[in-house]
Amino acid sequence: MPRCAGTKPDGSPCERIVSASHTYCFAHDPATAAQRSRNASKAARSKPSRELAAVKERLRGLAEDVLAGEVEQEAAAVASRILGVYLRAVEQERKVREQEEILGRIEALERRAEQGGRIGWR
Ligand SMILES: [Zn+2]
Repeated sequence: MPRCAGTKPDGSPCERIVSASHTYCFAHDPATAAQRSRNASKAARSKPSRELAAVKERLRGLAEDVLAGEVEQEAAAVASRILGVYLRAVEQERKVREQEEILGRIEALERRAEQGGRIGWR
C-alpha cells in the first residue's frame, strides 16, 4: 500500500496509507489545501468559538478583579457559576453543530454510494 508523500509537522514522513491514485493523504494534498484552510477559518470564526473566547476573557478578568479586591468574592462566585452554565450551553451547541456536519457528510457519502460511485476514505 502506498504511503502519503507528505511530512508531519515534526519533519518525519506522514504514515497515512493512500489509494493508488493519490500521492498525498487529505491532510497533505496540495489540491485540498485551500479547502482545509477554508474549513479551519470557518471553525475559528464560528459563533461558539467566539463565545468561548469571550467567556474565557470574562472569567480571567473576574479572577483578576477578585484577586485585586475589586469584586466581592460572593458576587464573583455567582458570576462564575453563571458563566460556567453558559459555557456548557455553548459547548452543547458546538457538539450539535459538529454532529450535524458529520451527518451531512455521511449523507453525502451515502448519496454518492447510491449513485454507484466509489466511497474513497482518505
Ligand atoms: Zn499525509
